[in-house]
Amino acid sequence: MALLYSRRLLAAPRLAAAASRASSWWSHVEMGPPDPILGVTEAYKRDTNSKKMNLGVGAYRDDNGKPYVLNCVRKYVTVQGISGTGSLRIGANFLQRFFKASRDVYLPKPSWGNHTPIFRDAGMQLQAYRYYDPKTCSLDFSGAMDDISKIPEKSIILLHACAHNPTGVDPRQEQWKELAATVKKRNLLVYFDMAYQGFASGDINRDAWAVRHFIEQGINIVLSQSFAKNMGLYGERAGAFTVICSDADEAKRVESQLKILIRPMYSNPPVNGARIASLILNTPDLRKEWLTEVKGMADRIISMRTQLVSNLKKEGSSHNWQHITDQIGMFCFTGLKPEQVERLIKEFSVYMTKDGRISVAGVTSGNVGYLAHAIHQVTK
Ligand code: PMP
Repeated sequence: MALLYSRRLLAAPRLAAAASRASSWWSHVEMGPPDPILGVTEAYKRDTNSKKMNLGVGAYRDDNGKPYVLNCVRKYVTVQGISGTGSLRIGANFLQRFFKASRDVYLPKPSWGNHTPIFRDAGMQLQAYRYYDPKTCSLDFSGAMDDISKIPEKSIILLHACAHNPTGVDPRQEQWKELAATVKKRNLLVYFDMAYQGFASGDINRDAWAVRHFIEQGINIVLSQSFAKNMGLYGERAGAFTVICSDADEAKRVESQLKILIRPMYSNPPVNGARIASLILNTPDLRKEWLTEVKGMADRIISMRTQLVSNLKKEGSSHNWQHITDQIGMFCFTGLKPEQVERLIKEFSVYMTKDGRISVAGVTSGNVGYLAHAIHQVTK
């Protein structure tokens, strides 16, 4: 039947086809039955009987039959996102739709490469503030403070919560405090991107210090999180987007709009990674083991940094490589020039991005000597 219809459509003159399309190809389509599971809740909501019970959904209810939300959680709205990237995109779209004060998002220079297309594709405008000083391979704190203090009020500033990618350079706690004070003075909305919680210091609480400090200071923040690195859930795409609201009512309204944004994007996120993350976070033994493992991963990276520097010295390098051990997290901005990187690739098969960034996670006690030798050869 479908074949017959489409043949007829192809053969008919265009106008006739348009006319028949405009009339009633679908008039025979009947109302479908409600979804067998979701339909239970929909029917329950429509029911006005005061004795109604919803036994269709397996979620904890309190003794009044109401969903139980801990008071401490009421001011947060968190939605699950498709890892860090998906959570950033939800956030970017949310700001585009509801942050009326400004379109401008200020990124550190440099920032993770994907920040620009994520915010741009969501309809936001990208601006930048100074962050990294290539001369010292460290934080350009006075440049950052100078630029941030001039950002127009009520703009959005993106901050890497810890283990800045690609530079491995984070502010110290006293610097975060100064930053927070300036951000507060300018009345900026802070967008924290936290993709490496635990990877900077090995301690998830310490790595969340800046986020918590800003919240304690009463600064408005939104937050994207990824569990890809710190739980090793790369392909499972587990992440979260959080908005700190002023009260439970505002949180409810924000949550409803986040759902409306997400529904046409991908309807619902995948469950598997989130279940693993939730199990780890909520099972005391697993949580303890996870924290130890996060520390183990971070410590191995820190020890590779030290070994790289001591091997460079052993090779006879006279350069100051202190930034390798000063920087933190998964990445190190070595300060190598593009032509040096090219030589490393061609002559030593040591691959890295042209900007000289190395993932320290790829360095092992087995290859750190070779890496130091190769770096020394192209920098002496
Ligand atoms: N933000 C930053 C700063 C990142 O480095 C990354 C991952 N490279 C992400 C977000 C995205 O993380 P995910 O892989 O979980 O999408």
